[in-house]
Amino acid sequence: MNDLLQRFLFEHADIRGDLVHLDATWQAVLAKHDYAPPVRALLGQAMAAALLLSATLKQQGRLTIQIQGEGPVSFLVVECTAERTLRGLAHADDDVTTTDLRALVGRGRLAITLEPEADGERYQSIVELSGASLAEAIENYLDRSEQLDTRLWLAVDGARAAGLLIQKLPESGRVGDTDAWNRIGQLSGTISAQELLALPAREIIHRLYHEEDVRVFEPEPVCFRCNCSRERVADMLRTLGHEEVRAIVADEGSVQVTCEFCHHKYEFDAVDSEQLFAADFPPAAPRTRQ
Ligand SMILES: [Zn+2]
Repeated sequence: MNDLLQRFLFEHADIRGDLVHLDATWQAVLAKHDYAPPVRALLGQAMAAALLLSATLKQQGRLTIQIQGEGPVSFLVVECTAERTLRGLAHADDDVTTTDLRALVGRGRLAITLEPEADGERYQSIVELSGASLAEAIENYLDRSEQLDTRLWLAVDGARAAGLLIQKLPESGRVGDTDAWNRIGQLSGTISAQELLALPAREIIHRLYHEEDVRVFEPEPVCFRCNCSRERVADMLRTLGHEEVRAIVADEGSVQVTCEFCHHKYEFDAVDSEQLFAADFPPAAPRTRQ
């Protein structure tokens, strides 16, 4: 398994760890877009980070990381579902060379949104983007939103994206091992980007923490999947309004919408378009794609 989420736990210290490797998932995103290397790196880091953060959620749901800035990267979004599927995209200039986050995004904002699967409120928190790297920006975000102490390391190359997270559990520090957080943080920081990308998850855990008491769980599979559907596009067209949709059909013969994440094309001809606005509109299915 090359695309996975590997959880582990320092039981004596009440600190959790998560490791992610994205291989085919990352390739699927790269195959659909042609990004400059620094933009690619930022998007890959955001994908690894979204998966790491979603693993720490108490409530299962969809987690979204969104960055908006002055550019050259003006927009970036990554979504991770409770089923561990990911999709993402970025809007950026073609000729970006810098890798510093501040130079890549300019003055920007970082938003993290959680939409719980079952009952529960949608939660979003937005902060000014700060830090030289995305890992630092997310650590700052978590710090400001007064969440549990968390540190993360992210790495990307043309083939893979990877990440490592450690987080204090609420009970942490209750027992004797008060130095554990600093010690485990320092051990984690010794991993190089190259090692994080290339070594199997279990080997990384062994290399870094062989003197600690670590419980390693079964890895979970991860994959790329776009959750766009004909139904969602239909909803979007309804919000555009009947007149606007009619005008497009009059001009172009039909309404064509291409999903920006996966490049799937949806077409609504004159009849389909009228049906969208019929008084008792039948659902846009059966051509729903999931
Ligand atoms: Zn799609």
